[in-house]
Amino acid sequence: MNIGILGGTFDPIHLGHLGIANVAKDQASLDRVLFIPAGHPRLKQAEPLAIVEHRLEMVRLAVSDTAGFEVCDIEAHGPGPTYSVDTLVELSANLGPSASLFFILGMDVLGQLHRWKDPERVLALCQLLVLDRPGEEDFDWDEFYQRMPEAKGRIQVVNAPLFDVSATTLRQKAATNDSLVGLVPDAVDEYIRKQKLYLTAGEGRTAS
Ligand code: ATP
Repeated sequence: MNIGILGGTFDPIHLGHLGIANVAKDQASLDRVLFIPAGHPRLKQAEPLAIVEHRLEMVRLAVSDTAGFEVCDIEAHGPGPTYSVDTLVELSANLGPSASLFFILGMDVLGQLHRWKDPERVLALCQLLVLDRPGEEDFDWDEFYQRMPEAKGRIQVVNAPLFDVSATTLRQKAATNDSLVGLVPDAVDEYIRKQKLYLTAGEGRTAS
């Protein structure tokens, strides 16, 4: 069984996340895709704006109509940052030896791989499905493989249209009451409005 893993902050989940998950699912014949929101993302400059319960719920709403897409809260509730390597170890133990793991990520995140905890082990535990992202046109593969030779043969670049959307721009739009229609699923748009997320910096923020 092929299992896709899409880790992120999902602050909020948007059509870029769903787009890359869909294309990766088709091209790598994934049976399931697990969307895994991080409680405290380690490599982001600031804590997420929305508490993890809101982010989990938005992912739940976004994936509920798609067969094979699931939300997984394995990284949500710990007191501190979680690490993909630990998540992969736990998932592979839970899913058993018949599961092959595929980590789905955008090119912006691939460029940070050397900063992850134990990237060599990550590459041994899963294959990476990488998707291009606006702003990453000049990605330097030679430099990447020089820095991370273990990645050779472990990365599949997935051909997909560019999804020109980021959670950062969506939070900015929501803060000024701009419409998010067409950028997030309708149910997520409704949830953001109903819960008044992102209207002011600090709204719905986690205290822990
Ligand atoms: P932010 O703008 O807050 O940094 P984000 O839009 O990058 O957020 P994340 O939840 O941090 O969203 O991203 C989770 C994963 O999805 C990462 O691997 C990221 O590269 C990938 N991703 C998100 N949006 C896109 C996109 N538009 N195209 C390709 N990959 C994307």
